[in-house]
Amino acid sequence: MNNKAAELDIHELLTRHKLYYDSGRTRSIRDRLVLLARLREVLQSREAEIMAALRQDLNKSELESYSTEIGIVLEEIRHISRRLTRWARPRKVRTALTHIGSKGMIVPEPYGTVLIIAPWNYPFQLAISPLVGAIAAGNTVVLKPSELSPAVSDLLRRILAEVFPEDYVAVVEGGVEVSTELLRHKFDYIFFTGSVNVGRIVMEAAAKQLTPVTLELGGKSPCIVHKDADIALAARRIVFGKFTNAGQTCVAPDYLWVHRDVKEELLQEMGRAVRGFYGEDPISHPDYGRVVSRRHFDRLVMFLQDGQTVLGGRSDVETLKIEPTILDQVTWDMPVMKEEIFGPVFPVLEYEQLDEVIEGVRNHPKPLALYLFSQAESVQKHVIESLSFGGGTINDTLMHLATPYLPFGGVGDSGMGSYHGSESFKTFTHEKSVLIQTTRFDFPFRYPSSKNALRILKKLMK
Ligand code: NAD
Repeated sequence: MNNKAAELDIHELLTRHKLYYDSGRTRSIRDRLVLLARLREVLQSREAEIMAALRQDLNKSELESYSTEIGIVLEEIRHISRRLTRWARPRKVRTALTHIGSKGMIVPEPYGTVLIIAPWNYPFQLAISPLVGAIAAGNTVVLKPSELSPAVSDLLRRILAEVFPEDYVAVVEGGVEVSTELLRHKFDYIFFTGSVNVGRIVMEAAAKQLTPVTLELGGKSPCIVHKDADIALAARRIVFGKFTNAGQTCVAPDYLWVHRDVKEELLQEMGRAVRGFYGEDPISHPDYGRVVSRRHFDRLVMFLQDGQTVLGGRSDVETLKIEPTILDQVTWDMPVMKEEIFGPVFPVLEYEQLDEVIEGVRNHPKPLALYLFSQAESVQKHVIESLSFGGGTINDTLMHLATPYLPFGGVGDSGMGSYHGSESFKTFTHEKSVLIQTTRFDFPFRYPSSKNALRILKKLMK
């Protein structure tokens, strides 16, 4: 079936998924492992096509495509596959004194059919990575990739059809109307990655069906550079994190907050790093990413009017490219500071006391990521303990997202729930509690009218 919006009967698709799930075919751990291995193989054999599609949709370089999309997914499959048998086993737990003779068990159980809605900025990784978790946990999946990355969406559909029957994994392509239609139906779990505003819509729709959700959202992630940081190293790592994929990364540093004493040096080093990575004319550099659409391009170009441009500032509407741009003299009331930037524009704020930063971040919605550059453990500890954020890296950018050993997710406005590695398995698994009661004896004191019942209970339950 070709799942284009108009011809799609979602009710019928979900009925088939339920039948498939109820048949028990997703339950065998061995079969799940075979499918994950097969998926890995197909992804490896289609590497060139995936790279070509990413080049087409976002002008991603091969290096970026491998490190941030393909490699990360292969690692995730390997990590999960090695541990899945252990995670999926029912676990015995202790029982309370009142439950003597019984056995407590936690039985991992798939939810059923999962809806995954993916964004366009890492269109491959952010679709496949949650899918791997959902499949590992034994669910069937309906995946709705983004309409703004059509080459990858089309390829995803073809690749997944090669590995899974459509009653097991279905790719439904389309935009807002298709998403809205999907959300009208009852799924057993919804995993959404995208913007805060659409996250609200998804949660509202899920609430109507009482469907549990994970929301992987965005926001303005600060990057703080303290005066004791290794400035040249910080500059390279910040430029890397900010301008990878032309700044269209949910965990990209959104704005810079730098100590006054090191600001000039940092800005100069960042300029040097930009030239080192993308040459004197980044717009014509073959490996510098482009903005996804004209609408996004126009929004970003508006930001170029804010503050004072100290690096970059040029753009090219033909190629939808905007130079890596740094804006100094920026204030919170400017448009560039009022919403998530999601592009290669980097506003700079300066501070004298770290507590100004703590207060400033606290006065805004909790960010998805936070970066701090400082050599001092006391400063690191102070920031980690004082501020709430989804996750972060100290003395680097983006890297916390790329390890399967750390759960990845937001907090507050930047999202709820998390995934990657064991957390992916847990996210797509219901932990069913089961108590197996003994029939060898039956304490009378819990029944009405039994003698001394209350006295005994008070001894056991306190
Ligand atoms: P988006 O919210 O516009 O779209 C995401 C998905 O939702 C797409 O598949 C889209 O078709 C669908 N959608 C759009 N409008 C909808 C509606 N009204 N109802 C139902 N579905 C709808 O986000 P985007 O522009 O694709 O991605 C950028 C945003 O995603 C940024 O805010 C970024 O920070 C965030 N993001 C977060 C993460 C994360 O892991 N936390 C990762 C990537 C992107």
